[in-house]
Amino acid sequence: MPLGEFDLIERFFSRGSGRSDVLLGVGDDAALLEVPAGRVLVAATDTLVEGRHFLPDAPADSVGHQALAVNLSDLAAMGADPAWALLSLSLPEPDERWLDGFAAGLYSLARRYDVALVGGDTVRGPRVITVTALGLVGPRDALRRSGARRGDLLYVSGWPGEAAAGLEALRGGVPVASDDPLVHRYRYAEPRVALGRALRGRASAAMDVSDGLLGDLGKLCAASGVAARVELERLPVSDGLASRYARADCERLVLGGGDDYELLFTLPADATAAMEATLPAGVPVHCIGAIEEGHGVRCLRDGRPAGVEGGGYDHFA
Ligand code: ADP
Ligand code: MG
Repeated sequence: MPLGEFDLIERFFSRGSGRSDVLLGVGDDAALLEVPAGRVLVAATDTLVEGRHFLPDAPADSVGHQALAVNLSDLAAMGADPAWALLSLSLPEPDERWLDGFAAGLYSLARRYDVALVGGDTVRGPRVITVTALGLVGPRDALRRSGARRGDLLYVSGWPGEAAAGLEALRGGVPVASDDPLVHRYRYAEPRVALGRALRGRASAAMDVSDGLLGDLGKLCAASGVAARVELERLPVSDGLASRYARADCERLVLGGGDDYELLFTLPADATAAMEATLPAGVPVHCIGAIEEGHGVRCLRDGRPAGVEGGGYDHFA
């Protein structure tokens, strides 16, 4: 007997969270959530479409992970503390094995960041997953794209490009080991929640890299009304990338790849020491350039203008 909609919700998406600010979770017409005085709600939503945002044969737990991670990354980029999530699920059929894996991936990430799944919607259709994540931040602490100023230093966290390399390997049709580190990075990239918190009150601007560093940096510059200079020799190229790709391909992946959930941020030059002293453990950050007057992004190699591949991703371009 196929699983009905309500059995499905109860069986896979009704786990408690232990958060005392969930006055009412899954099961009623809507959830009741308590926002503490003095903080504001930070809301983000992202949709994953099968074949476009995840491969049809992707492990179900990686899809559950990604659906929440992409949203926690947006909250991290705002400097928010994640709190709650809603899940809208469109599925061709109630495949219990797939749902089991999907829920495991989603809840495992949710537990790590103390996020309660408090509601959603379940319908039959092509496989499309929308998660809405809600977080909390002090109104003055929120990080925005619009605060970068001339003279600020430009940073990126971690190792952008690894996830794109993992995806490229999966798409390339060559056999890749399921425990390949770059494939793992693509499937289970960790949102930079702790870094986002650490940047509150320090970064002048921040955003997460979802469509490629260069394209996203262009958006940050436009929002701030400034230009940026990227020094190519300072780009972080991980050992994993460097051992598999020539330098030009490494740069293409670092500058153009998405899906790593790294944070791009700017800091006034006199705030860098304080920021580096309070970095969460295990989160590398790399200064890759600076903010200038004007508009647009220019890349320099050894001080000279350099053309590079790798704009951002635009669904309608
Ligand atoms: P309604 O018809 O009133 O919108 P539903 O029957 O769609 O309610 O859902 C019943 C309850 O289950 C609601 O609390 C809803 O938020 C929750 N819910 C539905 N689908 C999901 C899901 N995929 N994950 C988590 N909660 C869900
Ligand atoms: Mg409904």
